[in-house]
Amino acid sequence: MAMFHAAYSSLTPDAFAAERLLLLPEEVLLSDGCHSGKAVLIADGRFQEVDDAESLIQRHPDLSPITLPDQLLMPGFIDTHHHLTQSLGKSLVCGEPSEIFKRIWVPLEGSLDEELLQLSAKLAALEALRGGFTTAVDAGTRSAADTASIALAAEETGLRCVLGFICNDQGGTTGKQDVKQILNRAEHHLIRWEGNKLIKPSLAISIPEAASDTMLHATSALCAEAGTIFQTHVNEHLQAVERSLVARRQRPLEHLYSIGALGPQTLIAHATLVTPDELNMLRDTDTAVAFNPVASAWKGNAVAPALQMAALGIRFGLGTDGTRSDAFRLMDAAETSQRLAFGLSTGDSSCGGGWRWLEHASRSAADAAGLKGLTGEIAPGMAADFLLVDLAVPEMTPTWDRIWELVRYANRDQLTAVFTNGRLRLWQGWPVEWDGRALLRNIREAAVAVHQAPIYRVHPTATQHRAQYREATTPQPTLSIEGYNP
Ligand SMILES: [Zn+2]
Repeated sequence: MAMFHAAYSSLTPDAFAAERLLLLPEEVLLSDGCHSGKAVLIADGRFQEVDDAESLIQRHPDLSPITLPDQLLMPGFIDTHHHLTQSLGKSLVCGEPSEIFKRIWVPLEGSLDEELLQLSAKLAALEALRGGFTTAVDAGTRSAADTASIALAAEETGLRCVLGFICNDQGGTTGKQDVKQILNRAEHHLIRWEGNKLIKPSLAISIPEAASDTMLHATSALCAEAGTIFQTHVNEHLQAVERSLVARRQRPLEHLYSIGALGPQTLIAHATLVTPDELNMLRDTDTAVAFNPVASAWKGNAVAPALQMAALGIRFGLGTDGTRSDAFRLMDAAETSQRLAFGLSTGDSSCGGGWRWLEHASRSAADAAGLKGLTGEIAPGMAADFLLVDLAVPEMTPTWDRIWELVRYANRDQLTAVFTNGRLRLWQGWPVEWDGRALLRNIREAAVAVHQAPIYRVHPTATQHRAQYREATTPQPTLSIEGYNP
């Protein structure tokens, strides 16, 4: 035991600086479960070999193996739905009613200049990595500033990013442009990041009502052609479903289906208010879904029927929707939401068997994000996007079922290290190549800009709410009536 402690404490970030790394962790999470006695060889940013430790060491006598006692090597998580430029407003939305994008996000993002856009994206990227996400799918910013600021933030932190470019031609962003102008910029965005090791471009339309049918169809088709994903928010709020019904006599998903905007390239965020027919449309078109359980709890009108989607073969990945970048808590929320919304009433005590939430936060999430075969699992040829998780914690001791333990007990403070493309990005929660605390100082100063944004917040702060509540529930003094003597 003493030896293990010595080995762990002697481990420093410098140990991972070599070009080629032969890692011998306590356990490795492969697609079929956790294994002991395995090793991985990393070079050129990718997993080159995954095999029994003994044979790998024998095949590479030139490399000094790095033993990682008490560490689980597992795939980095993938957040299939994020808004990297909303990080300055995080707790402004607590307690707010639905459709907060109208009152908070659009005004906030509209007030960001390029510098603030970059700062907020960098903060969000740091939070994502700290929460175990090595990839985030950004749904696009409503700010008029260049998306290059977001790409730069991802590159500086090492977060892999599917970078959305918004193509609304009917509002919902700052600045208006015609269809042709937008499509030109969209095409430019799709070729602009070629050869970039972390950025993959994508196109987005905020919600179907923010674009014309021509634009919806063209954007989706452009993505299919370019081999990337088309993102849009659909069937999240009752108000939006009803607006669509009034305007078109179609629900938003029916609308997208009827104009041919669904397909394997399309990633629908939310799909919480879905009819059985709409589920069939998702399945028949092989459309993917970003299932955002925390967003449902915080500002939604319903919980997406994720287990039903799984049973139908609908592709989906877990997403934060910019709520809270903690991958372990996201998996926990995914399971809990299905349990409370569906499992309790049907007596389904399994509710995904634990593994489903891990899988839809990694490999299946990569598929939904258009990154299949690139990231999301520990296998030869895949990008070396991975986590080292400290297993020597009371919450996971003794171990009987590692996967359930990861879903229900693991915590981001167990993350020893976060890697993307084989490069160490975070060590015990903090960046190794740049000053994370200096960023926080900058953010505190820059956040004053939020006061200038025309945000309309409905809910008071918790402290104000408490005071109002106490006042409202304090018994009023009774009127004394002269001469009345019971
Ligand atoms: Zn969203």
